[in-house]
Amino acid sequence: MNVNNFIRHPPFAAATNGDDTHNTPQNPQTGLLHADEFLNSVTDVAPPLHVSTNFRYARDPAKLTAFNDLNAHEIAEHVYSRHTAPSTTRLEALLSEYLNGYALVYSSGLAAFHAALVRLNPARLSLGTCYHGCRGLANMHSRLTGMKQLPLDCPAEELHPGDVIHLETPLNPVGEAWDIKHFAEKAHGRGALLMVDATFAPPPLQDPFTLGADIVMHSASKYLGGHSDMLGGVLATRDLKLRWELFEDRVYLGSTMGSLEAWLGVRSARTLELRVLRQSENAVKLVQWLAGEMTKSGSPVGKVVAEVRHASLQKEEWVKKQMPRGFGPVFAIEMKTEELAKTLPSRLELFTHATSLGGVESLIEWRAMSDTTVSRRLLRISVGIENGEDLRNDLSRAFDHLAAEPAKLQINGRD
Ligand SMILES: *Cc1c(COP(=O)(O)O)cnc(C)c1O
Repeated sequence: MNVNNFIRHPPFAAATNGDDTHNTPQNPQTGLLHADEFLNSVTDVAPPLHVSTNFRYARDPAKLTAFNDLNAHEIAEHVYSRHTAPSTTRLEALLSEYLNGYALVYSSGLAAFHAALVRLNPARLSLGTCYHGCRGLANMHSRLTGMKQLPLDCPAEELHPGDVIHLETPLNPVGEAWDIKHFAEKAHGRGALLMVDATFAPPPLQDPFTLGADIVMHSASKYLGGHSDMLGGVLATRDLKLRWELFEDRVYLGSTMGSLEAWLGVRSARTLELRVLRQSENAVKLVQWLAGEMTKSGSPVGKVVAEVRHASLQKEEWVKKQMPRGFGPVFAIEMKTEELAKTLPSRLELFTHATSLGGVESLIEWRAMSDTTVSRRLLRISVGIENGEDLRNDLSRAFDHLAAEPAKLQINGRD
């Protein structure tokens, strides 16, 4: 079995340059169930859990090829799980199809971001507000290499060939969208590359490649995993040469995804589109309800909430074009006081007070617990797949309670 078949014959039409060796065209959700079928080696319907770190070489001496006599493009068999392994290869086959680019999986989202920085090694990195861990890693990379960091809105003239713009959209923790096409044009006009951290909105909500992204990054710990039980990261690219370079680097960085996690990732991929569409629908309804309540005088929501933030509330025309099938399932609310923000999670029954996002269960987080860069009045909400009305009722009850305890929570106070 050739583990790299899906790379020789890319399953996604746009990258085949007309050489389309594929049979039936598949919609993305179908691909999540079937794009890995060529890897089946046993009759199990559910993919087997392979945990081996090393794999037997052929018994036939004629079939043995020294590593030096291969180039990486020809690696056809599993050798050692730091290079390739059955579960990671299977997950990469599914995600290559779904993300519309060659996908490589890593041990975490930050490991993926690290691998991209190591390979691209830009003299300048333009980045704005972003996941605090990506900022921390960029600072570390600057310390080691002298990489200069520019603001996201730097003048285009400050960018040079080989530089990178890193755009996170929708943005953590507020769930607001940034214009991918605008930043792709800005980067490409200067010979720079655009990397998009698309963790908050996997397909079908958003496909950064169609808007000009060169590399798409995901923390698979979020929606791709979707069950709050695996840590992982993904880099996807349309450029086959870059894919091989990243693959070779990963062998030495050693930051590949573990086999157990990749197996969970395959389990998760089967329902990815269903989950994300339901979560997005639930989130948009909750945001609309909250925004509506804010405009009503005397509403308990308006008494305790200062602001609701989400891409669905943005008015710019490109937002809907960038996310035609729905917005990300994370949004944020800023409460009127820090005390209110600390208290709301304890008044909820269906939203678990915890960090992270993207799982099937709804979460709320007083974000100051894990992120040093945000307002202490901010709550991040990751909407799950529960019944949407139940979620709204839970929030509604909690706001009623909060609005009824004004003295203790200093509703009219300031932080
Ligand atoms: C969680 C997250 C990361 C980091 O991913 P890990 O899997 O935790 O390393 C990066 N970017 C965004 C937007 C995230 O939400």
